Amino acid sequence: MFFDNASTTKIDLDIFDALVKDNDQKFYNPGALYSFGRDVKKELELSRQKILRNLGATSGKLIFTGSATEANNLALFGTLKKNTRKILVSQGEHPSVYNSALEMKSRGYNVQFVPLTRDGTVDVSAFEDLMDEQVDFVSIMHVSNETGAVNDIVKLVEIAKNINPKVVFHCDGVQALGKIKVDVDALGVDMYTISAHKIYGMKGVGALYVANNIRLKPIIYGGEQEEGLRSGTENVLGIKLFSAVVESAVRNQKVNYEKVTELKNRLLELLENSGIEYILNSYATNSPYVLSISFKNCRAETLLYMLDDMGIMVGNGSACSSKKSGNRILEAMGRTNKEIEGNLRISFSKYNTREEIDVLAEKLVLCVKNYLKNTNR
Ligand code: PLP
Repeated sequence: MFFDNASTTKIDLDIFDALVKDNDQKFYNPGALYSFGRDVKKELELSRQKILRNLGATSGKLIFTGSATEANNLALFGTLKKNTRKILVSQGEHPSVYNSALEMKSRGYNVQFVPLTRDGTVDVSAFEDLMDEQVDFVSIMHVSNETGAVNDIVKLVEIAKNINPKVVFHCDGVQALGKIKVDVDALGVDMYTISAHKIYGMKGVGALYVANNIRLKPIIYGGEQEEGLRSGTENVLGIKLFSAVVESAVRNQKVNYEKVTELKNRLLELLENSGIEYILNSYATNSPYVLSISFKNCRAETLLYMLDDMGIMVGNGSACSSKKSGNRILEAMGRTNKEIEGNLRISFSKYNTREEIDVLAEKLVLCVKNYLKNTNR
């Protein structure tokens, strides 16, 4: 049973199987000049347009990359200039943004990290204080992969652009697209990162939406695919799957949201009735797809292995940035070391069922009780 869907999801085979069959006749290089190659290129462009439409983009472009990690690197390093003055990045970012920002800092750039509040969202008043007319670049994620916390991007963009109308605002939307409403035009962002394998597509396929006004330089050089912004032959099959799963996820966003909310609430109800002690790091306003929960007096890693032995896969949050700390994001949310130690990340998909939730709850309670008994706590 799989409850680590924030890390990856199962490919939607209904969509994939048809595309694989089709690929046998359409495996050609989209850069080739002969007609079959041109046909593949046409399909690639249709996929691009379909994703842009589903992102709510009425203008701008979409650059396909080899992952969202690469798209985030492209957003950050592709806009970095010698004279970039100040960069703001939230403390809640995925390592692909956070560690890129640390790298910029180590190169001498003025990078400042925007703190989080206890609920895992960016502290808006701290952001307002840090934001000044010197800030050239901001990166704040839409939905946290760690807790499901949803940032008010519209408000943050408004604050940023009011202070410096020329600021470039990037948003990592990997955990948002297809799960909550995404409309890049309405959000007002300049760049937006997405990933295929979080919404039933293939691993190794990501993309960066780039608004018209943004001047971007490549970070990978070669055959000048993707308008010269990302060289390397595109993964056409993966991209076609990406566009189909994006369309399906956006079309079914409300239905799946309701289903997943019910699953999450069912799990919480069963845990509450079990009498075991825990605190939630995910709030009711968060995306229901991610549940961050800390079990009292438990070592989550042990719980994770105990569940694994029972055939249940859950996450234990993102890797930490320093060896000393257990979880950078929960730390930024003010959680204690003990709370961090007991933290599991349970993340859902459209494929999870109510029956699975009942088994998960039963086994989880059993694991926690056994753990506490075996450690005399
Ligand atoms: N950003 C967020 C918020 C994520 O959750 C992830 C994956 O965990 C990534 C970026 C990186 O995605 P990819 O695996 O496509 O590089």
